[in-house]
Amino acid sequence: MASNEFNEAYIGAGTYAAVTCDCGITYFVSPPEYSDSYNEGEYERLLEQSEENPDKFKQTYGCISYGHIDSRCIVLDCECKTADKYENFILNHKELISSFLNASLKRDVTEAVNAFNSNKIKTKDEVINEYWFDLDSAPKDSSWFLGLTEEETIEEVHYACDLSGEEQPPFKGYFKRVGTYFSEVKITKWKPLKKEENV
Ligand SMILES: [Zn+2]
Repeated sequence: MASNEFNEAYIGAGTYAAVTCDCGITYFVSPPEYSDSYNEGEYERLLEQSEENPDKFKQTYGCISYGHIDSRCIVLDCECKTADKYENFILNHKELISSFLNASLKRDVTEAVNAFNSNKIKTKDEVINEYWFDLDSAPKDSSWFLGLTEEETIEEVHYACDLSGEEQPPFKGYFKRVGTYFSEVKITKWKPLKKEENV
C-alpha cells in the first residue's frame, strides 16, 4: 500500500456516491449515507451490477477518497495498487528525479537572475564608460569639450600645447578658463560639448 504521505499528496476529493478507479473498479457507498447522494435509480443500478459483477462493483462504507496522478483517477487503497506503482517509481528514481529537479531549478533561477541583471541600475563606472570617451580620442585642436577630472568633477576644457618656451614656459595638457587665465586640469575622460554649449 502506498504510504500515508504519498496518499495525502495526491488525494484531492471524496464522494458519498460512486467513483470508478482507473483500473475499472467502481466503488459505491452502501448503504447510502445521505438521501440525495445518488441520482434517481443510480444506487439500485449499482446494487444490481455488484451482484452480477462483484469484482468490478464494490460496496464500501463512508466517504470514498480519490485523486488524480498522471490524469488517472485513482481510488484510495484500491486493490489495483496504482498509487503504489507511482510512489515506487518516484522512490526508485529519487536521485534521478532530484538531480533533474535541482538542475531545472538552477536553470530557472539563473534565467531569473539574468533577467533581473539585464534591467539592473548601472554602476557609476558603467555610466562613465557609456557616456565618456578615452582621452586618446579627445580633440587635439583648441576646441572646447567636457573633461571628467580625477575627482570626478566636470570641467569645460581644451587642449593646449606650446613646447617652444618662447613666450612662456613650455606647457602641454588640458586647461580650463579661470577669469582671463587658463588653469591646467588633469582629466581622465572626455565628451563633446552639446552644440549650444560650444564656446
Ligand atoms: Zn484501482
